[in-house]
Amino acid sequence: MEPKPRPPHCLVFPYTMQGHINPMQNFSKNLVSKGIKVTFVTTKFCLNSFQQFSDSMPVEIISDGFDDGDYASAESQEAYWSKFKRAGSETLTKLIEKLNSTGFTVDCIIYDALMSWVLDVVKSFKLVAAVFFTQSCAVDNIYYHVGKGLIEVPVENRVSVPGLPVLEPLDMPSFVQNPGAYPVALDVTADQFSDIDKVDWVLCNTFYELEEEVIQWMSKQMRFRAIGPAIPLKYLHNEITPEDDTDNGFKPETDSCMNWLNKQQDHSMVYVSFGSLAELDAGQMQELASGIKESKKPFLWVVRASEEAKLPKGFLEETSAKGMVVPWCSQVEVLAHKALGCFVTHCGWNSTLEALSFGVPMVAIPVWSDQYTNAKFVADVWKMGLKVDVDEKGAFKGEMVQHCIRQVMDGEKGKEIETNSRRWMEMAREAVKEGGSSDSSINEFVASLNQLSN
Ligand code: UDP
Repeated sequence: MEPKPRPPHCLVFPYTMQGHINPMQNFSKNLVSKGIKVTFVTTKFCLNSFQQFSDSMPVEIISDGFDDGDYASAESQEAYWSKFKRAGSETLTKLIEKLNSTGFTVDCIIYDALMSWVLDVVKSFKLVAAVFFTQSCAVDNIYYHVGKGLIEVPVENRVSVPGLPVLEPLDMPSFVQNPGAYPVALDVTADQFSDIDKVDWVLCNTFYELEEEVIQWMSKQMRFRAIGPAIPLKYLHNEITPEDDTDNGFKPETDSCMNWLNKQQDHSMVYVSFGSLAELDAGQMQELASGIKESKKPFLWVVRASEEAKLPKGFLEETSAKGMVVPWCSQVEVLAHKALGCFVTHCGWNSTLEALSFGVPMVAIPVWSDQYTNAKFVADVWKMGLKVDVDEKGAFKGEMVQHCIRQVMDGEKGKEIETNSRRWMEMAREAVKEGGSSDSSINEFVASLNQLSN
């Protein structure tokens, strides 16, 4: 009998942030279900800081040069990135040598687009290079144009980018609007495409139907494939409801959140979260709190421990009968709950795709990075929500937050938004179903890997 061919082995290496780990991990699980062997790669500090790693996928550690999480001790952000590049290249090289010599030969590295230096390591071993973009194709195309010098930064006038509607400066990612405020960030994001012609696959967490025009354009420039939404397929395919899932990795918070959600009527609740990084100042927090309170809707609000001191005095006591404030929750499970009526979000790309995949209408309040562009698309292109006016300093009004919540949940506009949200939810689910656009792209990638090891 012929020996069974070994499965292709991919290392998956996300940048060390929640919004990068989550989609790359979900994508990895999908690859595993299609017969690929995946080893996740991260730093020691990251492994100890994020709860998501507690599942069955093997994890290997490399170093960013700050193994104890002491990156704040780097002289500057430039110094951090340059040390990460040096230590990361060295330790990733050693890891591949170790795996190759112990029978776990590596065939491909799927690496986060923010770490373009990984390509040199991939090429030195003659492996397949697959770069993973965790942001929307629209935002990727903006950075592509910035990297090629085709968009002048800082952006001061309306911008036309192929495949996108005309964008105002305030619709652009903050690194492009105001690069001086984010040293290094613009260089890193614009550098994502510097060696793109040497990459074998460009994978992006989006789906064809959502960003058709811009995906078509990008696909003419590179071997671009939309593989999203990269969120837990078991919920999208209705194999299990989040309430019944005992394997969600966030049990303690989820139990209290789930108990709270279970007590609410269908589509009655507002869920508020600004993701894993965004920081609001005291004024923004005050306006947000007043908008939530005055909407008079039951709510679940994620206020990370580092943000809690900014909550207005007395807010928790005054709203305890109506709402719940938690430091973290299992967001995908919350968004999947039938009590949800509206998501007040910073429009991080994962949050946007997660809300879209569960048909939850949004109230968008972008804070920084790509969130401005995502919010523009949510409100004006996909029409799945409303955008709160945010000025160039990030200020917004509580009355407008309240107004948008009420409009989305009870107003005339809410009906159209609900219909659109349902439509996008169905399209997202179709894309990842067997034979759907994203599923077919993933199968194409998997087939090419299978050819390698046969
Ligand atoms: N998230 C979560 N619980 C929370 C807040 C966020 O699980 O209480 C997850 C969320 O589901 C998403 C990620 O953290 O997958 C945040 O990524 P996103 O791109 O939305 O925002 P970022 O944190 O990068 O700003």
